[in-house]
Amino acid sequence: MLERISVQTHDLIIDGRRVPASTGRTFDTLNPANDAIIARVAEAGPEDIDAAVRSSRTAFEGAWGHTKASERGALMLKLADLIRRDEDELVQLEALDSGKTVSAIRRQDLPAVLDTLVYYAGMADKINGQVIPARTDALTYTVREPLGVVGAIIPWNFPLMIGMWKIAPALACGCTVVLKPAELTPLTALKIGELALEAGFPAGVLNVVPGFGKVAGQALVDHMDVDKITFTGSPGVGRQILHGATGNLKRVTLELGGKSANIIFPDGDIDTAIKAAASGIFFNTGQVCSAGSRILVHESIHDDVVQRLAARAKSIRLGDPLETATGMGPLVSEVQMNRVLNYIDIGRREGASIVTGGSRHGVAGCFVEPTVFAGVKHEMRISQEEIFGPVAVVIPFKDEEEAIRLANGTVYGLAAGVWTADIGRAHRFTRRLKAGTVWVNTYGPTDIRLPWGGARDSGFGREHGEAAIDNFTEPKVVWINIGR
Ligand code: NAP
Ligand code: MG
Repeated sequence: MLERISVQTHDLIIDGRRVPASTGRTFDTLNPANDAIIARVAEAGPEDIDAAVRSSRTAFEGAWGHTKASERGALMLKLADLIRRDEDELVQLEALDSGKTVSAIRRQDLPAVLDTLVYYAGMADKINGQVIPARTDALTYTVREPLGVVGAIIPWNFPLMIGMWKIAPALACGCTVVLKPAELTPLTALKIGELALEAGFPAGVLNVVPGFGKVAGQALVDHMDVDKITFTGSPGVGRQILHGATGNLKRVTLELGGKSANIIFPDGDIDTAIKAAASGIFFNTGQVCSAGSRILVHESIHDDVVQRLAARAKSIRLGDPLETATGMGPLVSEVQMNRVLNYIDIGRREGASIVTGGSRHGVAGCFVEPTVFAGVKHEMRISQEEIFGPVAVVIPFKDEEEAIRLANGTVYGLAAGVWTADIGRAHRFTRRLKAGTVWVNTYGPTDIRLPWGGARDSGFGREHGEAAIDNFTEPKVVWINIGR
């Protein structure tokens, strides 16, 4: 299978067909574990985006619009079956393209993808309006109508999972989707597009158009016939998307970055807290929007926690993501590796001390050692800016007030965690932490049933759960005059 992947050129998926880019251009996608080219991928330009949007519009007005809600759900369940059938290929492709480990994809990403599909498949025929008896001379009610054509723009850190977080609720609601995966990780999105066709989704319901953000992504955002952009990525691009959306005032949901605090009190379960703090920052090589990248530790246990966290970091096995024993893979690209190494240098220059790690690992591939900084000041850039790599900063605090001030003291507001056995303290923190999700005595789990999103530079709107239904539908009021 690997040889087959290595020689393939992948076309765009537009209107039920695999088509080359209208310019004929392709780009290479690499394996960040060894820098090898694994595939060539058609590079969508503005003309291809336009073709994809037209096709999705036609499907929305036609075949998909006429599909019963229960049939939409049944097609989604069929897609889930095909994903299960091709699970091994999907896991391998995702690992090759992104550097994520096969063990984590199998344990975490793939089950979440299936859970998301099945959850929203079940919701497709339960999207109801309301009869609202506003007047005696009229029958007044609402119907929830799908928004129309959705542009989904996703990052490279969880390509399959974040892709499904957007596709599944949009399709359940009756929208059609043009999916623009990150240029670094287009392969599993294309595979999902192929499986959707095999499952029997009508042409144009899910078009997949890999390409560059500034070209293909921007064309999708600027397109006057796209009704909604659902975006996950960086705050900078999020801002550009808001600007682009002004053309036709399309709806926008933004899931952006974070610099989340994981707060450890001495009365918490310290063994579990340290374990969770390590996976909170090192899972997925730290490329997680809700990574617990700032570990705030009460001063009475600070030195002990730093030493034990560093020991855990040292014990992580870096290596080939395709091997099941590998604990941590490379960063997604050389650019990302250099960005992370640059932040480590910034931390050094700011006067923080490296307890463990701090360097590139090996000479091939994009590996960086799991790194722990101590002696970090709240104002330092490594404490304020999202590094998006395996770099933990540890900051001591003396009391609750200081912990809250530090935790809330960034431009972000995505997630936070607190470790304590004091139930009053736990509730004080869940109230006062500015975050879309607050974990108590755990760090990092998400569930498709629970709303997910943040505030400030972490974006706005909520995905998951029933919140996602509101993202892809709008109520229409029907007013029938019945006289007196
Ligand atoms: P990014 O540069 O913002 O890219 C995200 C997506 O946007 C990619 O598909 C990208 O295409 C595209 N894009 C880039 N410029 C665009 C433009 N002008 N118009 C339209 N689309 C454009 O982010 P990233 O570096 O890939 O991902 C890392 C960031 O995502 C981090 O900040 C992280 O915190 C955030 N993130 C947030 C969540 C969450 O749930 N809140 C989850 C994961 C990641 P190209 O790939 O071609 O550039
Ligand atoms: Mg790649």
